[in-house]
Amino acid sequence: TVERLRPFASTIFAEMTELAVQHGAVNLGQGFPDSDGPAGMLEVARQAIADGFNQYPPGRGVPALRQAIAADRVRRYGTAYDPDSQVLVTVGATEAIAATILGLVEPGQEVALIEPYYDSYAAAVALAGARRRTARLVPDGDGFALDLDSLRAAITPDTRMLLVNSPHNPTGTVLDRDDLTAIAELAIEHDLIVMADEAYEHLAFDGHEHISLSTLPGMFERTVVISSAAKTFSVTGWKIGWACAPAPLLDAVLAAKQFLTFVGGGPFQPAVAHAIRHEQQWVAALRDTLADKRLRLSAALAEAGFGVKRSDGTYFVCADITPLGVTDGLAFCRELPARLGVAAVPVSVFADDKASWNHLVRFAFCKRDETMAEGIRRLRAGV
Ligand code: PMP
Ligand code: GLN
Repeated sequence: TVERLRPFASTIFAEMTELAVQHGAVNLGQGFPDSDGPAGMLEVARQAIADGFNQYPPGRGVPALRQAIAADRVRRYGTAYDPDSQVLVTVGATEAIAATILGLVEPGQEVALIEPYYDSYAAAVALAGARRRTARLVPDGDGFALDLDSLRAAITPDTRMLLVNSPHNPTGTVLDRDDLTAIAELAIEHDLIVMADEAYEHLAFDGHEHISLSTLPGMFERTVVISSAAKTFSVTGWKIGWACAPAPLLDAVLAAKQFLTFVGGGPFQPAVAHAIRHEQQWVAALRDTLADKRLRLSAALAEAGFGVKRSDGTYFVCADITPLGVTDGLAFCRELPARLGVAAVPVSVFADDKASWNHLVRFAFCKRDETMAEGIRRLRAGV
């Protein structure tokens, strides 16, 4: 392995899912649902394959999907992206993230991240030959808040890009308008490009509103918005994601994307277009269901002795293991599948400052009721 990839040998999701399979554990680690997305969407994909829609789609994505994404952003956020020049379909949000960084950050420039951060960010920064600096979330009541001073300190004259993820994996934090306004002011003051990872844009609970950074004054022109069908329509295996940005930024993303994969997911693209246009009620029901599962899992974790954090969105809830008399979350997660038959993910893998996050463990609640009940039973029986 080349030096710049050496720190990223294997992702924690692969490691924990492998352990879960090996021990027959209930997988509350890797964030993927164990039930299917809307039936109408699945049928469109089947039909697309039957209709011979099986060759390379257009480089920017099939027009129907780009149009559906653009119309959806107008409807929900009031931002108008031109489907022909300002929307790009990618192989999951993961490729959009990598292509955004590879296409817009020079080797030696810096990227500011807020930790804990989604694991692919640091790897993509390293692939680009860039350097990362981390700001942080800090404990705030039963949840987390952005430490704005740490974000200010992470920005230097070499900073080119700021990566922001809300609703936030792994903590379930939904950044509010004050936080986003402060981030926007910093981005404008330092003339930074912002990558807004909105993979969980539909999964904010309890009336917490997901606000897209792209809607704040002065931000549309400097923001690459990234999202994905994976979590919205329960199709993590389809790998259909997208980036929306003004043409000068998006052209740079496309320049990288075309040599990473060229295109992807041909027959799935019309299906996702259909879902964006016709399955918003299904998504609303998913959000309500997840909000409820989150409460059930949180209560069970608390009963089992964990110090449970508040989750306002995403698939995830974080729990403190200190009350159980243990402190090493990585070791705890490595032994949990064999010991209790449950898999979880240590939050330290999402951070550079591992010591500050090693007492937290992330559990996914995006599972069927039977799966959740069995996971909860095992946790109660034995932590
Ligand atoms: N960003 C975040 C915050 C995620 O949690 C994930 C996983 N869904 C991704 C990006 C990657 O998304 P995709 O599966 O569409 O590549
Ligand atoms: N995004 C999912 C998670 O955080 C999994 C992604 C992956 O396996 N790479 O669990």
